[in-house]
Amino acid sequence: MALSPAPTGRSRLPAVDRVLAWPALADLIAVHGRTGVLDAVRAELAAWRASDRAPDDPALCDGIVLRLRAAAQPRLRRVFNLTGTVLHTNLGRAPLPPQALEAISDVGAGACNLEYDLAGGRRGDRDDAVAGLLQRLTGAEAATVVNNTAAALLLALAALARRREVIVSRGELIEIGGSFRLPDIMREAGCRLREVGTTNRTHLRDHAEAIGERSAMLLKVHASNYRIEGFSAAAAEADLATLARQHGLPFVIDLGSGALVDLAAYGLPHEPTAAQALASGADLVLFSGDKLLGGPQAGIVVGRADLVARLKKHPLKRALRCDKLTLAALEAVLRLYADPDRLAAQLPALRLLARPAVQIEALARRLAPLLATWLGATAQVDVVPVRSQIGSGALPVEHLPSHALRLTPAGPKRGSGRALEALAARLRALPVPVIGRIADASVLLDLRCLEDEAGFAAQFAAGASA
Ligand SMILES: *Cc1c(COP(=O)(O)O)cnc(C)c1O
Repeated sequence: MALSPAPTGRSRLPAVDRVLAWPALADLIAVHGRTGVLDAVRAELAAWRASDRAPDDPALCDGIVLRLRAAAQPRLRRVFNLTGTVLHTNLGRAPLPPQALEAISDVGAGACNLEYDLAGGRRGDRDDAVAGLLQRLTGAEAATVVNNTAAALLLALAALARRREVIVSRGELIEIGGSFRLPDIMREAGCRLREVGTTNRTHLRDHAEAIGERSAMLLKVHASNYRIEGFSAAAAEADLATLARQHGLPFVIDLGSGALVDLAAYGLPHEPTAAQALASGADLVLFSGDKLLGGPQAGIVVGRADLVARLKKHPLKRALRCDKLTLAALEAVLRLYADPDRLAAQLPALRLLARPAVQIEALARRLAPLLATWLGATAQVDVVPVRSQIGSGALPVEHLPSHALRLTPAGPKRGSGRALEALAARLRALPVPVIGRIADASVLLDLRCLEDEAGFAAQFAAGASA
């Protein structure tokens, strides 16, 4: 058929009703529903009309199929995190163990005893699913859980320090990415920030001199995503705890990542645990569920029973509470901690962090030829040593030895930003998108977090790529 110029071409496009009656569309309607197919038909016809292409029924039909396929793809999808940052906030932080996924599906599919005491046959407390486990694992008197640690801090400030002063070292007035800035959270909670000391050095006497009539709390915030080195000083937690006690003030530590076990036992750098923070004298300790703990997003609060009770009674607790899926997953993850010997095998976050570099290198050597074939002449592949990061603010300076596939674009423009971005975009366009990082004129795929080797390889197997 010859190309016909508009408006003749447009007028020859079939009507919506005629297209819907095509036999090929009957199957699509059975799968996607009539409304979805109708939307796709309308959109495809509109695109043809706008493009002045000559009507071509088979091509039109293909276009409709592609639109339906794209529309059926969930917006939130699994990806391969090969960035080298294990707990990557943009990629959903900790991967969950199968025990947590089973608990989510079990509890999510129907009714559960979320706020129901099965023994007594009366109303229960949703925190009960995890409070006992958290108390056992940290030595705390009491525990409660909210949506995330930013929420936990907001709640603790609002419940314990509204309209009063919270004393914090200037070295800890941090921003943790996004819009989480400590001074902003303080303001939103209705507290007055009382900064003490300097950015690099704050002494116990700085905290002591700031205590007065209006003081409500001493707060210590883990510096998370940066570290002050060299000429620096901070008051010891035990000393701050004693000072707080002398003045009848609560001492609260926002640990951020907050490990539940000593990571050194798994060959990782040491990170303070929630139990240690409590043992040093903190009245409340806050930490995240989806950072080093390796569970779902949650903000965990452990500590003194009277203070936890005040948090639980505050109206914000209702607004910030966790849902049953989170609590089910968190309980399942906390149960794994009861068996420290098998923890590294059972908890994906810890397993990935503790993964030996030699194992990652062997994986890289197995996969390199496959990638080389897939890329053909467009890029060169080699295996290089790299350093992974823990991520999410944990141990920002410590790095874990790892290995990556280094993909270096070939051709005259090989080092250009455009060539690198084109290569990265090709990897992101795979059925399960592959997310690497760009460094040194290459795309690096750090294989530390690649456990589904077969699924990954299948995407690059001969004939699998578009
Ligand atoms: C990560 C972090 C937070 C925020 O935790 P979320 O669970 O992401 O809300 C708060 N404080 C510190 C010190 C952190 O490292």
